[in-house]
Amino acid sequence: MFNEESHLKQPIRWAMVGGGRGSQIGYSHRNAALRDGLFKLVAGAFDLDAERGRDFAVNLGIDEERSYSTYKEMFAQEKLREDGIQAVSIATPNSTHFEICKAALEAELHVVCEKPLTFTTAEAYQLQALAKEKNRLIGVMYGYSGFPMVHQAREMVRRGDLGDIRIVNAQFAHGFHNEEYEKDDPSLKWRVTPAASGPTYVIGDIGTHAFYLCEMITEMEVESLCCMRQSFIESRAPLEDNAHVMLKFKGGAVGTLWASAVNSGSMHQQKIRVVGSKASIEWWDEFPNQLRYEVQGEAPRILDRGMGYLYQDDQGVSCNRVGGGHAEGYFESWANLYARFAHAFDAAERNDQTALAAIWLPGVEAGIEGTRLCEKCVESADNGSQWVNYKD
Ligand code: NAD
Repeated sequence: MFNEESHLKQPIRWAMVGGGRGSQIGYSHRNAALRDGLFKLVAGAFDLDAERGRDFAVNLGIDEERSYSTYKEMFAQEKLREDGIQAVSIATPNSTHFEICKAALEAELHVVCEKPLTFTTAEAYQLQALAKEKNRLIGVMYGYSGFPMVHQAREMVRRGDLGDIRIVNAQFAHGFHNEEYEKDDPSLKWRVTPAASGPTYVIGDIGTHAFYLCEMITEMEVESLCCMRQSFIESRAPLEDNAHVMLKFKGGAVGTLWASAVNSGSMHQQKIRVVGSKASIEWWDEFPNQLRYEVQGEAPRILDRGMGYLYQDDQGVSCNRVGGGHAEGYFESWANLYARFAHAFDAAERNDQTALAAIWLPGVEAGIEGTRLCEKCVESADNGSQWVNYKD
């Protein structure tokens, strides 16, 4: 069970870049980080519109003098304070992640960054090296990876309950952008604009989530992939609003990944099915408290969160917050990740490598692989859907 007594000596002094008024994801970060008293929001550069950002910060209860117009000003000013920020979350459009992460690490801050981490793997490796040099951590906000039943799925694969893994079907295919809504929606407009979004739309925006679940649950490495991508709303080209990826894993397993924003009528349809030689499991983010477990020749079972027959979820910080039968959801998944980020940042500052090694979290490596997925899918799709090696 989640240990709410597991506090730090002091909450981590925390700030945000982006995630301002009306943004899609800002509240999710604040809600998650502030849930358990492990972070304290003390500063922010929340908005491209400096005036609106400062007004928003003050409304959140941040001191006026720590409500900054730009992240550069914030990092510089906070460095001068004895009680300056220790960590920052970056919830801005993709094009800015690299430069803001780099500046944050140079200012010796721990970072939680939105996905996709960067436009290129070269940039992501640069951030990894810088983080190492500064003894700082980067967490990447793969927000679905904090669900207890996802951890149960990973543990079942680890323990061999499924036998040898043969097939993975992963998808995140919603229908919200089946028409050209970006005309009136700035939050969607940047997503379909290469300069702001990067080389992909749906692959980076939602495919990386499903891909990360696959990586995390199966711990298999991709060997090669083949991708086709389309822009059903033509004005989005070259960025795709639909993509299908075939995957070959090291060791012989195979898989598919479907990312789409034009799956009309669908809410999320983020699902992962892992098929082994003995049994299969299936998880769906719209019903996150359940995990379907199908053993060949037996009646299918629905495993429910919070029950004694599940494996204990620990891995440094438990993900389970309430007894079975109560519905935990998206916000708990995020809070579970932020709790891990807090304990890991704290352990890194104390140079407690044992504690650090015990805490599982989506870190910079996960960010690198998300960026690599985007890069490799584009390389494949834009060359006639050729098979490409995943790691050259
Ligand atoms: P959005 O357009 O709704 O909001 C972006 C916010 O960032 C706005 O408040 C904007 O003013 C601010 N901003 C932009 N540039 C800035 C800068 N240089 N300095 C300070 N503020 C700046 O975008 P969004 O949908 O919230 O997406 C933000 C990021 O979060 C993207 O990388 C996206 O991929 C990611 N995201 C992740 C999830 C998830 O589940 N993890 C969900 C949605 C979005």
